[in-house]
Amino acid sequence: MPCALPDTAAEIVAVDFDPREHPEFSTQCTRCDRLAEFLADVRNRYPAYFSRPVPDFGSSEARLLVVGLAPGMHGANATGRPFTGDFAGILLYRTLFKFGFAARAESRSADDGLELYDCRITNAVRCLPPANKPLTREVNTCNSYLREELNRHSPPKIVVALGGVAHRAILKALDLRQAAFPFVHAAEHRVTRELLMIDSYHCSRYNTQTKRLTAPMFESVFRLARRQLDIIGA
Ligand code: SF4
Repeated sequence: MPCALPDTAAEIVAVDFDPREHPEFSTQCTRCDRLAEFLADVRNRYPAYFSRPVPDFGSSEARLLVVGLAPGMHGANATGRPFTGDFAGILLYRTLFKFGFAARAESRSADDGLELYDCRITNAVRCLPPANKPLTREVNTCNSYLREELNRHSPPKIVVALGGVAHRAILKALDLRQAAFPFVHAAEHRVTRELLMIDSYHCSRYNTQTKRLTAPMFESVFRLARRQLDIIGA
C-alpha cells in the first residue's frame, strides 16, 4: 500500500507545542461533564471497577504508539489498562506479542507484570463513554492529551490508528487536514517528517465477528509497523 503524502510543506512541519498550554493527563480529569457524571454512576454500580480516565500503557520513549477509541465498560474501564479485560484486547495483545512488541500474548490486569517493548497504547478518549460512543466535543477535549503524547515525549515514529475515530483524532492532534489522509485499512500516511501513521480497522468484537477485520488483516498492520521500525533502526 503506497504512502499517502501530505499536500503541502506546511503539513509536514512539526506542530508548535507549548507544554504550558496543555494540562498534564491525570486520572482525576473531569473536563468532560457528561463522561465524569457517567463514570460516577458506573463507580456506584461497579465499586470494584477502575472507573477513571485510563492512563496510557507502555514507555513514553516507545517508538510505536497504538491509539484506540475509548475504554470499554468491562475492559479498560474495569481494569485501568487499555484493551485489558474485554474482547478487543485479545487480538491486540496476541498480535503485539507476535511482532515482538509485548512480552506475552495476553494482558490480564493492570498489575500482571506484562511488559511492552518499544510500544505504548492509548485511546482517543480516555474515559468510558455511554454506549461506547463519545461525543465530538469529548473527542476534541481529550485531544489535548493525545497531542501531548505525540509531541511532548520523544516522538513516536509509528502511530497505529485503530478505527476512524482514532485516525481523525491523530490528524486533529497534528493540526492536519482530514481530507488529505483518508482512512483505509493498512494504509500508510506520512503525516510528518518523523511520523508514519498506519490505519487499521478497530479490533472490536463486532469487527472481528463480522470478519470486517480478520487476524491476518490485523497482523499485516503490525508487520508493516515492525518492518518500518526495523528500517528506521534504533
Ligand atoms: S475524556 Fe479525556 S478530557 Fe474528557 S474527562 Fe476523560 S480524560 Fe478528561
